[in-house]
Amino acid sequence: MTAVEMGDNLPMSCRLSVLVQTPAHSGLSGPLTYLSDEALPPGTLVRVPLGTRETLGVVWDTPPSLEPERPSDTASLYAARHITGPLSEAGQLPVLSAAWRQLVGFAARYYQRGLGEVALAALPPQLRALDGAQMARRLAKRSIAISKSTETPSDASVLESAPTSGALLLSAEQQQVLQTIEESPGPFLLFGATGSGKTEVYLQAVQRILELDPLAQVLVMVPEINLTPQLEQRFRQRFEPTWGEQSVVSLHSGMTPAQRLKAWLAAHTGTARMVLGTRMAIFASMPHLQLIVVDEEHDPSYKQQEGARYSARDLAVYRAQNEGIKVILGSATPSLESWHHSRPANEGGRYQRLHMPSRVGTGAQLPTVRRVDMGRQPKGAVISPPLLQAIQERIARGEQVMVFLNRRGYAPVLFCADCGWKSECPHCSAFRVFHKIDRSLRCHHCGFSQPVPRACPDCGNLDIASLGRGTEKIEEHLQALLQTQRKPNGQPIQMVRIDADTTKIKGSLEAQLAQVHDAEVDVLVGTQMIAKGHDFRRVTLVAVVNADSALFSSDFRAPERLFALLMQAGGRAGRDAAFLAKQGSQAELWVQTDHPTHPLFEALKTHDYPAFAEAQLKERQEAGMPPFTFQALVRAEARTQAVAQSFLNAASAAGAELAGAEQVFRFSAVPMSLQRVANVERAQMLLESTSRSALQAFLTAWQATLHSTRALPEHKGLIRWAVDVDPQAI
Ligand code: ADP
Ligand code: ZN
Ligand code: ZN
Repeated sequence: MTAVEMGDNLPMSCRLSVLVQTPAHSGLSGPLTYLSDEALPPGTLVRVPLGTRETLGVVWDTPPSLEPERPSDTASLYAARHITGPLSEAGQLPVLSAAWRQLVGFAARYYQRGLGEVALAALPPQLRALDGAQMARRLAKRSIAISKSTETPSDASVLESAPTSGALLLSAEQQQVLQTIEESPGPFLLFGATGSGKTEVYLQAVQRILELDPLAQVLVMVPEINLTPQLEQRFRQRFEPTWGEQSVVSLHSGMTPAQRLKAWLAAHTGTARMVLGTRMAIFASMPHLQLIVVDEEHDPSYKQQEGARYSARDLAVYRAQNEGIKVILGSATPSLESWHHSRPANEGGRYQRLHMPSRVGTGAQLPTVRRVDMGRQPKGAVISPPLLQAIQERIARGEQVMVFLNRRGYAPVLFCADCGWKSECPHCSAFRVFHKIDRSLRCHHCGFSQPVPRACPDCGNLDIASLGRGTEKIEEHLQALLQTQRKPNGQPIQMVRIDADTTKIKGSLEAQLAQVHDAEVDVLVGTQMIAKGHDFRRVTLVAVVNADSALFSSDFRAPERLFALLMQAGGRAGRDAAFLAKQGSQAELWVQTDHPTHPLFEALKTHDYPAFAEAQLKERQEAGMPPFTFQALVRAEARTQAVAQSFLNAASAAGAELAGAEQVFRFSAVPMSLQRVANVERAQMLLESTSRSALQAFLTAWQATLHSTRALPEHKGLIRWAVDVDPQAI
C-alpha cells in the first residue's frame, strides 16, 4: 500500500513530522513524514518503523506538507508509514519542551549536523531500546519508587548519616559576587582564583533559586567525569537534607545505560532539581531550568570531538539566553573567548565579569612560583636537585606533594642506537609508547599493542633504549630517589600514580583519590587528570616536570592551554590556609624549564592572568585569529592523502559562488598534524571569516556541494568528512 492509498483509506489519520536517527551522510537531515491516528503534539516520543526496523522518533514542529513529498528515490524508501505508537500513554511522560527542541535545532544548524542525529544523540541511548510496554513498566516502577520515598520523607538513617553542613558564611568577595548574580541578568563570567570559593558561590546561588521556586531546576556542568563524584558529594551534603535524595542526579558517559535513563527521567519529569554532569548534560531535558553553571569553562573537554562537534559551554550560553535564565561561567583562567566577551560593555562586551582574586581563609595565598632553569642542572637530571630537596622537606613535615607530567606510559619511544630503529606504529604516523608495567609497545592513537621486542627488529641489537619519559618512569625514578625517605611517623613513604592507565577499572580512580584525601599518600604522580578541580587539603607543593613542549607548538591555542594548566596545577597547592599555618609552610608551584625567562612564566609568577590574556589577545588580534575571526575546519579521511586533499580542494572550488563565500577565506587542504591513524590518511581545510553569519551561511549552503563532490568518481577512496565549527585544535 502506498502512502497515498493509505491516506485515502484512513481519512482520519493525520501526518506527523518525526525526527529519527538517520545516518549522518544519508543527505536526509530533516524530519520524516509519518501517519498517525491521533495528532500528537511536538516533543512527543514515538516508536516508528524505519526500513525494516522499528526505532525511536521525536514528533517535530514543522507540519509536513500535504502532498506526497520528495520525488527523489529516498522518498519511496521513507514514504509515509504509520507510526507504531507513542512511547508512552498520553500524560505519562511529558513531551520534550519547545525550549529543548529549539536547543537541538540550534545545535544542529550551528554545528552543521542532521537534526535527527543531534536530537536522538541528545536522548539517553536506552530510550531507543525500549518499546511501549517496557516503557510503561519502567514508568510504573519509577512512580512507585518516588511515592515510597515521599511517603517516608525523613528516612531517618539517610538523613542522619548525611553530614548536615549548611551554607558557609561568605567572604566579602563571595557576597558581592552572589549579590550581583541575583540582581543582574548575566551571562556571568566568574573569574575567581583557584580556591577563592567559586564552588561555594555556585552552591549558594543554586540554593536561593531552589528556595524561591518549588519547581526550579539547575544544571551544573564540570569538564571531566572524574570531577563529578566530588562535586556530587558536595551537592548531596548540602541539598539532600532539605530537598531529599532524589533531588540531585548526575549525567555523564561513565554511567550505565540504565543509570543514565533513570537520571534523564528524573530530570525530564522534574523530580531531579539539580543535574550535575559533563558536556553531554547540556542536552538534559529540564522543563523548569532556572540556572546553568559551567565550572572550569575554559576546559577543552567541553568541546565534543566526534559527531556533532558542539561546545557545551557555548550551547549553555545559547540555552540560557533562549530560555531567559541565568548562566554562570566560572574559571581561574577563562578561555580567551569568554575573557574577550566579558570586556566592558562600552567596548562591546556581552558578559558580565565578576572577580574573586583572593583565596578563602585568613592569610591564604596563591602558591609561590619557582622556576628551575634546567640548563643549569646536572646533565640528564629529570628531577632537579633543588626540587628533590624541596620534595623531601615537605614529606618530612607530613605534607603532600603532587608531581605532574603530561604524558602517560613509561617512555614515549624506544629506539636502537645502532641502526636508528624507532618504535613507530605501523598503522599511524606516530610512535608507540613503551609501557613497562606489561612490557608492551602501545599506540595511543589506534590502540595497536605488541610485546616489547627483545632485540631491535631491524638489526638484532639487544640494547634497545627508551627516549623521553612518561608518568610511569617518573614514578619509578621518584621511588628510587625517595627510597630512604621517611614520614614524620618513621614509616616509608606512599606514592600513587593517577593517569588513564591506572584508572581504567571502574572505581579505581575514586579509590585512589580517596587515599589522597585521607592523607595516606605522600606523593601523587599524574597527568592533567589530577591538575583540575580537586580540593586536596594537604598538598603544599606541586611540581611540573617539563612544561616546555607547549611553548613552541604550532597550535595558536597552546600558550593559553599551558598557562591554564599550570595555574590549575598550582591551584592544587596550599588550599587549606589553616593547615599551612599549622605547618608553618608555604604553598609552592615548581616549574622545570629550559626557558625560565619566557613571558608565559613571567605572567605565571605573578598569577597575572589578565596581563597574560591581554598580551595573547593583542597577538590574536594582530594575527587575525579567534576571537577576532571565526573558524571552521573540514576534515577528510581517505585511503590516500591525495584523495583526501583533492576532495577538500574540489569542494572549496565548487563552493566559490555560494552565499557568504566572498567573505569566507578558504585555505588549501593540508595533511593533519597526525596524518595517518589506523591506516587512514587525514587532511584538513581551514575556513576563516570575520563574520560569523557569513561563515554560517556559507557552511550551510556548502553541505550540498560537499555531498556532490564526494559522489564524483575521483573521490571514491574518500571514507568520511566532517565539519568542525569553532575548532579547538588546528
Ligand atoms: P574554588 O572552586 O574557587 O577552587 P572552592 O569553592 O572549592 O574554591 O573553595 C575552596 C575551599 O574553601 C573549599 O574547601 C571550601 O569549602 C572552602 N570555602 C569556600 N568558601 C568558604 C567560606 N566562605 N568560608 C569558609 N570556607 C570556604
Ligand atoms: Zn637496530
Ligand atoms: Zn597506531
